Amino acid sequence: MTDRLPGFSTLAVHAGAQPDPTTGARATPIYQTTSFVFNDADHAASLFGLQAFGNIYTRIGNPTNAVLEERVAALEGGTAALAVASGHAAQLVVLQQLMKPGDEVIAARKLYGGSINQFTHAFKAFGWNAAWADPDEIESFERAVTPHTKAIFIESIANPAGSITDIEAIAAVARKAGVPLIVDNTLASPYLIKPIDHGADIVVHSLTKFLGGHGNSLGGIIVDAGTFDWSKDNKYPMLSEPRPEYHGIRIQETFGNFAFAIACRVLGLRDLGPALSPFNAFMILTGIETLPLRMQKHCDNAKAVAEFLSTHPAVSAVNYAGLPGDRYNALQRKYAPKGAGAVFTFSLKGGYDAGVNLVSNLRLFSHLANVGDTRSLVIHPASTTHSQLDDAAKVRSGAAPEVVRLSIGIEDKEDLIADLDQALRA
Ligand SMILES: *Cc1c(COP(=O)(O)O)cnc(C)c1O
Repeated sequence: MTDRLPGFSTLAVHAGAQPDPTTGARATPIYQTTSFVFNDADHAASLFGLQAFGNIYTRIGNPTNAVLEERVAALEGGTAALAVASGHAAQLVVLQQLMKPGDEVIAARKLYGGSINQFTHAFKAFGWNAAWADPDEIESFERAVTPHTKAIFIESIANPAGSITDIEAIAAVARKAGVPLIVDNTLASPYLIKPIDHGADIVVHSLTKFLGGHGNSLGGIIVDAGTFDWSKDNKYPMLSEPRPEYHGIRIQETFGNFAFAIACRVLGLRDLGPALSPFNAFMILTGIETLPLRMQKHCDNAKAVAEFLSTHPAVSAVNYAGLPGDRYNALQRKYAPKGAGAVFTFSLKGGYDAGVNLVSNLRLFSHLANVGDTRSLVIHPASTTHSQLDDAAKVRSGAAPEVVRLSIGIEDKEDLIADLDQALRA
């Protein structure tokens, strides 16, 4: 080894992993066990009291998951991470540390449809209110700030249209309001955008998408940037006040710049329970090893497909930030210069019916509700993921009736273009 700091591709393969000390196994083993034997009674007591780090029970932590956590923290430039069962579980666990009934989270209107549902209905039932702001109009975030605001939540590349968010501008609003900026970096992955470099305090992912990358395992992760002062103004008592369940320790005082990741583990995951299976952690770790290779191919293919669609007579518009004329092209060149991602939308002249027809005529593209698979995927949001929204909300979130969403895979781009061409003719 040299003194050089390892580059992104090296971290994607190695960060967090060592040969297994007992067996020499080079790939990270799947520690498929619920629990771990204590050395002695004192060891057990110190683990339960958070005086020592170690394995207790897989709901709280597991060695396979720990490698995944260290790897994603390294790729994102955070201090620590916590893996959980899904992207939605990550969002739940993050907000549980920050919100009390009556508190507010300001959320970008352009979000994954499932997140809009989660914030609107499930979180509302906890008394956590969402105030919606428009990521294309930074002032709308400023206007939404109230004394009850506890966090701002955005996507770096936003679903479904692949629009690029001005993270630095929204981070400035969060700093001024004294609240953390949470960035869902699922569609970009740290290969394209590292939100912490642009002012994010917390990064969340659905590992289910590009990080796992093969459409075979659900997972989620929370990355702590280590940047936020949780004790200021006593706004975040879960982190700043003595915890009765841990002999009165204060999480921030004890754990410093990885206090948020610890709180998510020992208060969130421990008590809410959405643990990631070590088998899924293994699958996702294997996926991450090829993230840089896959992501570049996803982006290059997506650009070629977007260019093809933009000249097609059946298509009225293509929303792909990688196209020179796109309204997000300047933001893409600033935030995601390696590529604009692989998820984008386009509009059909034939409206809702043309959208429904297209998804039924495609052969190579799979019609399903997912993104970030090696395989190319298609969905008509208005009749599926966004069907619960009223018409105005559909348009506001980028899912108007004539809109089709693609997630471009890593096949040969000529085959993807040929399939779209035949389906658009049919
Ligand atoms: C899929 C997705 C989620 C939810 O993740 P799950 O793993 O399905 O729970 C959240 N945000 C974005 C941007 C997503 O694409």
